[in-house]
Amino acid sequence: MLYTYPIIECLSENKNDTEWYKELVRRNVIKFNKLIDRVRLCNNCSSAHIYFVDVCPNCKSIDIKRSRFLHCFTCGYVGKQEEFNKGYDLICPKCNTHLKHIGVDYDLPTAQYVCNNCGFVFDEPETIYRCMTCGEQGSPDKLKVQEFYTIKMTLFGYEWLLLEQKKIVFSILNESFKYVSLEYFQLILDWFIKLFRRNKNFSFGLLLIKFQNIEEVIEYYGISKSMEIYREIANRISEILRNTDVVCRDENYKLWIFLPATYKKGICKRIEEVVKNIQPDKEVKIRFHKKIKYSFELSDESDAENLMNELDTDND
Ligand SMILES: [Zn+2]
Ligand SMILES: [Zn+2]
Ligand SMILES: [Zn+2]
Repeated sequence: MLYTYPIIECLSENKNDTEWYKELVRRNVIKFNKLIDRVRLCNNCSSAHIYFVDVCPNCKSIDIKRSRFLHCFTCGYVGKQEEFNKGYDLICPKCNTHLKHIGVDYDLPTAQYVCNNCGFVFDEPETIYRCMTCGEQGSPDKLKVQEFYTIKMTLFGYEWLLLEQKKIVFSILNESFKYVSLEYFQLILDWFIKLFRRNKNFSFGLLLIKFQNIEEVIEYYGISKSMEIYREIANRISEILRNTDVVCRDENYKLWIFLPATYKKGICKRIEEVVKNIQPDKEVKIRFHKKIKYSFELSDESDAENLMNELDTDND
């Protein structure tokens, strides 16, 4: 098609996957920007590798020749100049008149071509196209017209992509932690709250980690580097955890960690140190909010749900 989009070659199996990027345009992810060219494509196979050939308008043969024609005023005969040539003189082959003066005895008609196949005499040949790819031929007005534009990402597309990448980055945490579902997590927590109320030896901690600037990190470092950074952070945090700790993540990029048999404060500080040690030395740092509540801080009527809400709402 003469033009391709490198990014489509990269991401799609079909180099000329016009339907795919048109679909992305329809979804407002990308938009056409600047018109680059208008190309005519084969009606049959959409190839741009076509050429044009002149043919006889009567029998479509390509065996046509441009000739000089003469028109005898005496008898009206029109023929090729060769038929009139007699030495240096021009003699009409029909009526034998000696043609001396142009405009008086004869003239040159506009007909310029003759077909060697059918003998047809005509002013202008017909032009047809032929496709080098599939062999299709026909009238040029049957050709498909395709306009090529540069493509630009829309603001919507940009934000959509960022959100998708954020999901990918957050799912990296899957590799380091064994998760339980939110429902199950709350069930365990509720059960432990009841246990603790009966017996203060069943102490625990509930930790919330919120990664605050995943988008900013992706924009600055790119998706692969960002995945590396968060993978490392998740690995380090998982090393601090004990195998009795239970992890859960919700849809809002929050990491919940339930730490049974925890009395002492200090895990927040350790997490902070761990992340500080692997912070990239560039200007954009990993920012995250962490907050812990211990069982001894429980209010009388707290259950799992409002304990989690309490942790989530005060963002200091
Ligand atoms: Zn012909
Ligand atoms: Zn004549
Ligand atoms: Zn074709």
